[in-house]
Amino acid sequence: MNLELIINLSYIVSAALFIFGLKMLSSPASARKGNMLSALGMLLAVVATLLTQGLAFKWIIIGVAVGGILGILSARLIAMTAMPEMVALLNGSGGIASLLVGWAVYHFQPASSVLTTFTIFLSVLIGGVTFTGSLIAWAKLSEKLPGKPIMYPGQKIVNVLILVAIIAGGIIYCMNPAANYSIFLGIVGLSLILGILVVIPIGGADMPVVISLLNSYSGLAACAAGFVIQNNILIVAGSLVGASGIILTQIMCKAMNRSLGNVLFSGFGSTVQKQSADVEGEVKPIVVADAYFILEAARSVTFVPGYGMAVAQAQHAVRELGEILEANGAEVTYAIHPVAGRMPGHMNVLLAEANVPYDQLIEMDDINPIIETVDVAVVIGANDVVNPAARHDEASPIYGMPIINVDKAKTVFVLKRSMNTGFAGVQNELFYYDNTRMLFGDAKQSIQGLVAEFKN
Ligand code: NDP
Repeated sequence: MNLELIINLSYIVSAALFIFGLKMLSSPASARKGNMLSALGMLLAVVATLLTQGLAFKWIIIGVAVGGILGILSARLIAMTAMPEMVALLNGSGGIASLLVGWAVYHFQPASSVLTTFTIFLSVLIGGVTFTGSLIAWAKLSEKLPGKPIMYPGQKIVNVLILVAIIAGGIIYCMNPAANYSIFLGIVGLSLILGILVVIPIGGADMPVVISLLNSYSGLAACAAGFVIQNNILIVAGSLVGASGIILTQIMCKAMNRSLGNVLFSGFGSTVQKQSADVEGEVKPIVVADAYFILEAARSVTFVPGYGMAVAQAQHAVRELGEILEANGAEVTYAIHPVAGRMPGHMNVLLAEANVPYDQLIEMDDINPIIETVDVAVVIGANDVVNPAARHDEASPIYGMPIINVDKAKTVFVLKRSMNTGFAGVQNELFYYDNTRMLFGDAKQSIQGLVAEFKN
């Protein structure tokens, strides 16, 4: 068998491993194995690529060492709540890598085929936008830049004009690449500027959606780079990232009941939204000792975690309380809203880290039909995803967003520190309902208090 055939066969196996790995990522029970499978596919792809003749191994080894050390350090040091920031930086790295691959090939072979010339243009354009866009997303999420949308008059027109200039430059460059290095450099510069300009008008809180979209772009840029260097596995892997990123973006928009256009162009959070109806009623606080008596008597308990559980890092205490309640004879479940927290799968990751059994995790669509049978719904630092206004208050910014209908459970405990609003900035009428009791305080401390009551 000749070497090229072996390399291509390895690439087919790698591609199959990527696809099965992605499929397995869709369930928490198989996600870890799916990740391992995809990593194995990537290892095979890298080894097969290294068999290509004429490679300069010195530079590859230096690259692997530097990248490997940086990767291990950042993966170890990063806090779980900062994961979206890390993904933003990784997307940005993918973008700049594709840009540099395109640039390098152009630099060393300015007179290439039309396909190569065109895909160099695409890898520079998409890679450049992804790189600077991801850096802005990272800076907004980590609060290095203000999270508020930065908007100015004529913003969209400026962005469109820059895009038109890039496309016009691209046509001139593609017609005669060897003679148009300065135009090419202009395309690089404008693409980098465009990345900044398209992300600054988006509010910090929408950044997870933007990051998912930029993830998709980084895949497309890699795919273009794959065409540039004619590497089949880079084309396949790039397409898979591009497609899965856009699917995830759509899932997130749907779960927030917003269109992608609304996320990208509305400057959500820049102006005061239409006021929702005033919330009326009386808030009924409860203390740990009283909450304990109700939980002690409950036959079915559903935990509904949200962003506050991540902030409080309460997941281990929650699992402990869940086990105690089960031992006490209650049926315990965890209801997961698709956009609870600040990144897709945020709650699943935290609960998996705390070893909560997967079969106790119930998705929103499965818990809602049976929520009326639940004795106590314990809302742990969740707010928007349980706000009943989403069902009926047309003036509310979250109107139409599917929610977990905890208000229909027999009793609701809401664990949070204050009456502060959540991500969408709207007051939650659930807190004023007759069957709701507010257990104020840090979620971890409240849960630990309940555990202590049971142990006493
Ligand atoms: P929210 O942001 O609506 O509410 C979180 C609540 O947690 C706050 O009201 C806060 O109240 C409370 N909290 C914070 N810290 C603690 C603590 N230490 N202990 C106890 N409570 C605490 O979160 P949800 O998960 O309900 O909703 C997620 C929101 O994020 C949705 O609006 C969604 O659209 C949005 N979003 C989600 C994305 C995703 O991918 N998951 C992506 C983009 C946006 P207090 O300060 O009083 O304690």
